[in-house]
Amino acid sequence: MIKGTTRARTYRAIYRLLDRVSPVPFDCGMICGAACCTAIGEEDMGIYLLPGEEKIHDRHADWLTWNTQSTDEYFFPESWHGNVHWVRCNEPPHCPREMRPIQCRTFPLSPHLTEDDELIMVWNDDELPYLCPMIEDEVELDPDFIRATHTVWKHLIRDPLIYDLVKADSQVRAEGAVAVTGEATGDADEWIEI
Ligand code: SF4
Ligand code: SF4
Repeated sequence: MIKGTTRARTYRAIYRLLDRVSPVPFDCGMICGAACCTAIGEEDMGIYLLPGEEKIHDRHADWLTWNTQSTDEYFFPESWHGNVHWVRCNEPPHCPREMRPIQCRTFPLSPHLTEDDELIMVWNDDELPYLCPMIEDEVELDPDFIRATHTVWKHLIRDPLIYDLVKADSQVRAEGAVAVTGEATGDADEWIEI
């Protein structure tokens, strides 16, 4: 299995920080039927865990089905060799909220590295099998959420494998990136000791 440098305690701290924020001050699942969650429950859909993120999850918990994918078969950075964990929720949109993977927690934003290697947050522009109203309408997001998400990714890209992933995605995205305004570039290290 692919191994990164991010420790379990860092992932726990990241989860705790992101537990304190939300993209909008209401349950956005009410306006779209939790489209992102229900799509992830479909066959062939799932969530990639970041390298090492599995360390804080219980493989025997009944809300997730665990699979692996080879980095040879899908689009991953060249530095990624081996298998990655790929999970699917068994009863979306129901899940233990405090255990949602990072992919769920920072959506609808994505980390993006500019040509100058500056980390900014942009709207997620993956090809998705559903429309997210927040992305479609570029809804104003809570600045605390943007700042916390930026802080989290700033820590995560200290892991060379995660840096390579973000860099590769950024290069594909290149000029199509739409920066999210707000406090995205603020330094919120003081929020939590990671
Ligand atoms: S993130 Fe987007 S797709 Fe997911 S529940 Fe909220 S509005 Fe719907
Ligand atoms: S972990 Fe929770 S938030 Fe994420 S896709 Fe599954 S049900 Fe939705």
